[in-house]
Amino acid sequence: SAAICWFRRDLRLADNPALSAAARDGRPVIPVYIHAPGEAGDWAPGAASQWWLHHSLTALSSALAEHGLTLIIRSGETLATLESLIDETGAEAVHWNRLYDPAFIERDKHIKQSLQARGLSVHSHNAALLHEPWTIKTGTGGDYKAFTPFWRAARRQADPDAPMPTPALTAPISTPASTPLAALNLLPATDWAAGLRATWQPGEAGAHQRLTTFLDETVTAYESGRDWPAVEGTSRLSPHLHAGEIGPRQVWQAVQSRLARSNPATEPGLLESAERFLSEIGWREFAHHVLFHHPDFPDYPLNPRFADFPWQDDPDDQLLATWQRGETGIPLVDAGMRELYSTGWMHNRVRMVVGSFLVKNLRLPWQAGEAWFWDTLVDADLASNSLGWQWVAGSGADAAPYFRVFNPVRQGERFDPEGTYIARWIPELGRLPAKHRQAPWEAPQAVLSAAGITLGVDYPHPMVDLKASRQAALAAFSQIKKSD
Ligand code: FAD
Repeated sequence: SAAICWFRRDLRLADNPALSAAARDGRPVIPVYIHAPGEAGDWAPGAASQWWLHHSLTALSSALAEHGLTLIIRSGETLATLESLIDETGAEAVHWNRLYDPAFIERDKHIKQSLQARGLSVHSHNAALLHEPWTIKTGTGGDYKAFTPFWRAARRQADPDAPMPTPALTAPISTPASTPLAALNLLPATDWAAGLRATWQPGEAGAHQRLTTFLDETVTAYESGRDWPAVEGTSRLSPHLHAGEIGPRQVWQAVQSRLARSNPATEPGLLESAERFLSEIGWREFAHHVLFHHPDFPDYPLNPRFADFPWQDDPDDQLLATWQRGETGIPLVDAGMRELYSTGWMHNRVRMVVGSFLVKNLRLPWQAGEAWFWDTLVDADLASNSLGWQWVAGSGADAAPYFRVFNPVRQGERFDPEGTYIARWIPELGRLPAKHRQAPWEAPQAVLSAAGITLGVDYPHPMVDLKASRQAALAAFSQIKKSD
């Protein structure tokens, strides 16, 4: 009899333990995707993630078709949907790969118990992590709140298993009915996704292409290049990893074989860069570890002192909307927010800068930034997004201290000295000489006129004074420190 492989965020055929287990011994496989966004609790996928999902499911469906299988798409409550699929097909086993978001842990536990009670063979597997959250423990059996010791402990464990190949797949004798993908309405009603289409190729093939390009062209200079928003100095694997179009074991193995082929004499720095890159994969693991042990991490500060932070009043969300639209008048912040809106991704250095600006210079709650990222990022991930925002806010695990307020002008001068990134996302500022692009309000009037820029008309005045707002943030922080 057939086995159901319930696809979720593991939209790939290779190194997919649930698929391999379902297909064992030549058993027919029924691959299914069930659309039930309401089951994600408060964190149903945002608009950019839905766009991604649509295209990723298209790619998965074609990849399965090449093996003679039809991806069955259904929409509705998951348990009931699985039960009716079992009734329709006579399947005797169900396999899936584990998710670690709190709402899914609860749901999946319930589904497993219910199906087992019906006598089905039900198994979950690990496709998403090198080390599942409960496998890394402190000396006293607790969880880690700092990255370095977490990663050291993870590295002491055995190397990750080798990735599995795509299994041989056999189709069931008859194919159950499937809802057309379009009926899930994942694509936006008004098409804002041109920039996403131009930037990304969702799906397993696109993921492997990114990895190959990164290892062939970029990894050697990753250690230094990863901080430069104008260059493609990082892998851009994040949305692929989030959707599970590629898994960390595959990334790990590809890095190891890249190192094995390298000649240290002709590629100085490769080893350091590769280690650094793997440690970023480690941050992803750490984010899952923290979320698993602190299920309210997406909503509440890990450091409870921050629960009483005196945030700024923002009637009608005007300050927030100005930040979201990339109209703050601070070029690096605006460039980042425009990159995000246009491509669904933002460079990590700039994520830290726009985050610091929101939480500190504007003194708006980190949860507001987290929610905007959730809606607009193609890599929106509950674990990594919460970790990133609590890091920025100074309230999280291994966070930046609150008093570290990024100065977006200095950050721009340091990491985008030619103003190339600014010019790409704010073309009007590209008319200014490079040295004035990070702080146009400081440029002499003659320079602005020569570039045809009137501040307040062609580009906004800064919405806050960076120095005064920094002081206000530090004063607010000392208030919560005192309340200890
Ligand atoms: P690379 O530098 O090539 O790194 C390789 C992989 O490591 C990434 O694909 C990602 O999976 C992982 N990684 C790298 N840095 C981090 C990190 N700091 N935390 C967790 N994982 C990391 N990342 C997300 O995947 N989803 C999010 O929703 C997300 N939200 C963020 C919010 C804020 C405020 C901040 C500061 C960071 C956030 N990050 C998030 C982390 C990081 O910015 C992205 O993972 C990274 O920019 C993705 O680009 P890349 O794939 O080229 O990264």
